[in-house]
Amino acid sequence: MFRPTAIYFEKDIENYELGRMLLEKYKDVPKIEIENHNNIEEMRNKQNSEFLKMKKNLIIGTRKTHKFVENHKVSDYLVPYTSSGCIASCMYCYLVCNYNKCAYMRLFVNREEMLDKIIKTANKSDKELTFEIGSNSDLVLENTITNNLVWTIENFKDTPKGKLTFPTKFAYVDDLLPLNHKQKIIVRMSVNPEYIINNVEFGTSRLKDRVEAINKLVDADYEVGILIAPVIFLEDWRKLYHELILYLYQNLSTKAKSKIFFEVIFMTYSYVHNAINKEAFLNSIQIFDKEKMTGRGKGKYMYKSDIKKEGEIFFREELSKYFKNNKIWYIV
Ligand code: SF4
Repeated sequence: MFRPTAIYFEKDIENYELGRMLLEKYKDVPKIEIENHNNIEEMRNKQNSEFLKMKKNLIIGTRKTHKFVENHKVSDYLVPYTSSGCIASCMYCYLVCNYNKCAYMRLFVNREEMLDKIIKTANKSDKELTFEIGSNSDLVLENTITNNLVWTIENFKDTPKGKLTFPTKFAYVDDLLPLNHKQKIIVRMSVNPEYIINNVEFGTSRLKDRVEAINKLVDADYEVGILIAPVIFLEDWRKLYHELILYLYQNLSTKAKSKIFFEVIFMTYSYVHNAINKEAFLNSIQIFDKEKMTGRGKGKYMYKSDIKKEGEIFFREELSKYFKNNKIWYIV
């Protein structure tokens, strides 16, 4: 179980039920009061080499901006929700936008306000909307600290309209199984070859456990997708991803195989990732490949188009071999 080294908290979290619950839960952990979770000077001044240590802290505040961003994938909107950042340490994590601000886990205790806005937007719309609530953190992992996912499903299930979706790399789904979710929740389990999980996705669940979690969620009648992401084109990527798809085919239950859909996303990377990874993850494997990647502005890199094309052909062929009746939402 995660036990933070220190808690940095905004004073007004005491005015929220979840804030009081977290202060009580961690009453023995050293606490530092802060003005604003977005601007903790002490963290800003830390070196990249202290990246992993910083992730052992918990920052608790309230979310002040609630802007929904249109999306055209599984969801219609990306919605800022109850956390940002994460206590795991995937080397490509897209939340490492600026490490002094995004890397560590921030919990936002004004969950009633955030869910209320989602429910109102869903009910006002003519169309059935799906809201992505997990684009800023891993909510299954967060749930082990706050129970927020259980709370969310219980408080969302009776709304007349709308669905919620989130991705995860964690197998801690047992608390979700008995809930009466009324098919309003879409869980997307992110997978990668075991070699990549072991060497790049530090602190996340093993592949075997993630696949077992998919089977359990399908048995509990959740809508479930598999996110093959991010695809990293290591030297022997064809072999690694072939083995992954074969493993899914051999270990997903018959019911899961009849229901799941796929999304495939190629890795993007940045100058900031590279700087942190070099100093914080000594002896780790190199995931930035300058032969295969190209700049896309503002210090960001993506795979070259011929590599992506080759990857797309490979994934369409492999998935149609083993999962010919399952929808592929997109390969990007
Ligand atoms: S589990 Fe997700 S949010 Fe956490 S470090 Fe990995 S990619 Fe980032």
